[in-house]
Amino acid sequence: MNRNDQVTERIRLWGIVQGVGFRPFVAKTADRLHIKGEVLNIGGLVEIVVTDTSERIDDFINALERDKPLPAEIVHIKRRRESFRPFNSFTILDSDQGDDEAAMIPADLAVCPDCLAEMRDPSDPRYQHPFISCMVCGPRYTIIDRIPYDRENTTMIDFPMCDFCEKEYTSIQDRRYHAQTISCHDCGPELSMTVEQGVALLAAGEVIAFKSMGGYNLICDPLSDGAVAKLREIKRREQKPFAIMFRDLEQIQQYCYVSDIEAKLLASSARPILLLEHKPSDSAEIEKSRFIGSFLPSMGAQYLLLEQISPLIVTSANLSEQPIIKDDEIMNALIKREPLIKGVISNQRRIQVRMDDSVARVIDGQPQMIRRSKGYAPVPLYTDTSFPGQILAAGGQLKNSFALTKGPFVYMSQYFGDMDSLENQEIYEENIQRMESLFRIKPQLAVCDLHPLYYTTAFAEKSGLPLLRVQHHHAHVASVMAEHALKGQVIGVSFDGTGYGTDGAIWGGEFLLCQGGEFERMDHLRYVRMLGGDASMKEAWKSAVSYMHAWETGYRQKDEGVAVDLTDIIEFATKEKERAWHGEELARKAISAGINTIESSSMGRLFDAVAALLGIKDRNDYEGQCAILLEDAAATPEKGRANQLALEFHHQIAKMILDTCVKIREKTGVSQVALTGGVFQNKILMEDSLSLLREYGFQVFYNVSVSPNDGGIALGQAYIAMKKKEAEGGN
Ligand SMILES: [Zn+2]
Ligand SMILES: [Zn+2]
Repeated sequence: MNRNDQVTERIRLWGIVQGVGFRPFVAKTADRLHIKGEVLNIGGLVEIVVTDTSERIDDFINALERDKPLPAEIVHIKRRRESFRPFNSFTILDSDQGDDEAAMIPADLAVCPDCLAEMRDPSDPRYQHPFISCMVCGPRYTIIDRIPYDRENTTMIDFPMCDFCEKEYTSIQDRRYHAQTISCHDCGPELSMTVEQGVALLAAGEVIAFKSMGGYNLICDPLSDGAVAKLREIKRREQKPFAIMFRDLEQIQQYCYVSDIEAKLLASSARPILLLEHKPSDSAEIEKSRFIGSFLPSMGAQYLLLEQISPLIVTSANLSEQPIIKDDEIMNALIKREPLIKGVISNQRRIQVRMDDSVARVIDGQPQMIRRSKGYAPVPLYTDTSFPGQILAAGGQLKNSFALTKGPFVYMSQYFGDMDSLENQEIYEENIQRMESLFRIKPQLAVCDLHPLYYTTAFAEKSGLPLLRVQHHHAHVASVMAEHALKGQVIGVSFDGTGYGTDGAIWGGEFLLCQGGEFERMDHLRYVRMLGGDASMKEAWKSAVSYMHAWETGYRQKDEGVAVDLTDIIEFATKEKERAWHGEELARKAISAGINTIESSSMGRLFDAVAALLGIKDRNDYEGQCAILLEDAAATPEKGRANQLALEFHHQIAKMILDTCVKIREKTGVSQVALTGGVFQNKILMEDSLSLLREYGFQVFYNVSVSPNDGGIALGQAYIAMKKKEAEGGN
């Protein structure tokens, strides 16, 4: 090798590269490829300096990306040529305190295969240790207090290491070298009830509480109707299907259809709840929906339990739309009040940050986040921007997450849920402060929704920062543009239940032409006069009455907006279906007179209306229920006329998306399309739309790392602000 071919490069890696054994991995990879240089942690990132030929440095970086240890995540790589500097070997340098760059804190990591093997080995000192962990696994963000991520800055400070653990912690060859969550039977947290006692209660059909990484769960046997009934009683008869935890992949496969990519996602260190289509089942609980929210255990303690009784319903112990419970006192108080909770498997390790389980699915052969929380937050997303400043994006009102940005890095918060809840508001504010201090972010700009009545809008207003208000559906589209670094113009198809429009109407079936931080509304679902108010959002039959009224009063003759054809559906509703909507007459009068009505182009409410008209469901007992059941009906068109019409309706909407996009392309030449908004959680609609649009030559993009529902809004808000700032050319 000729010295003249050699160059020195400084390589910076952002992502989850600290606290996961990344530097030793870099050193090993360099050794293997005979690359010489050095590696160190700077602030929250890893810096590598190497000298070799450009090609070999390329190979080295490819190997780092390809072979990185399981929990590591590389968000961004920056390479810079340096003046030539020869090295004799590859060395790991001590960490630099440098703090000029974006800090990263790892997300929580599920127990790794090596630790699991030890936990199951009777000869291992950590045999059956419920809190077994190592350098590449264990809780992270939920126990951290301050950076850097060191033991004394986490709630593990309550558990001084024994000599045995200390020895591993300090020996550089050990896989627990500097593993901040290291503990054993002698020095670690303990379960408040034995696994056997818990199993006995569960086997007897009881509900018990369990303290997991991000908060308290309620657990019970999904195959015991009695246990499920008790759980619903405790959860105030919530109708939503519960997530189910299985002891291993093989057991999930007994219940569900699992593709390779789904199997990989289930076993990933984030251990998301994955929406899987299930096989026919005797269980009434499982037959409630086409999908089971299925997941694998994250902690040793969960494995110990599930090895004896599996599957188990695992749901948060709080009531729906209330924050997940993290503190022992709160849980104990609840148990005192609630005799149906027969016990609790707790432990003394404090949870610093509450964190719901994440929810994901695989669509179009790709993972898509539905709720980005445990295992993902607070890993930042990297966006394509030259804006160097810092932004707070307040997010939406429901399914809320906020975002903080530092240069191109967007730190999405965990999931908070419904911001109408006072408890959630408090936790939201607490977490903004916490993330600002952890990541040393001082926003110079706040972004919020256009809606004047959102709590998050009020919060942004009182922050005292310069304020940018962003239209809801524009933010949805921008979240897709941010994720895929889309350049030029994009046709955004943004469908959801509700969002405040620039004309004061309620939008939700929008076709927006977007570029940078700007948008133009190209088309929308035809306006219908709807009964207003929050209650009407739940009452799908009110949407149905609104559509019937519109149908009878010239809907088809209007020329603004894109119309749907409800002829067959309304005919079915009037002829074949015995309707008993208490209050229908009153509702019709109110709509005619325009009392408490709004103009709306909401696609979500159209789905509600159709579900009610087809007699499938006329009320949302939980958010999105009518649309979910309408989709379930469409999945089995052979089961009757209503189901057949449900499927035709899905096809019609997909065709409407295609036709409208074709029209916009004829006008503008744009062929990039972004599909986003909560309505696209509908798998049939999503797959139909994707295949039609692709058939007609569109490039279609959708959300992957953030949710298509309002959980992803904050990313779009931040992105729009960045792009507007870039266009202003200012900081
Ligand atoms: Zn481990
Ligand atoms: Zn120990």
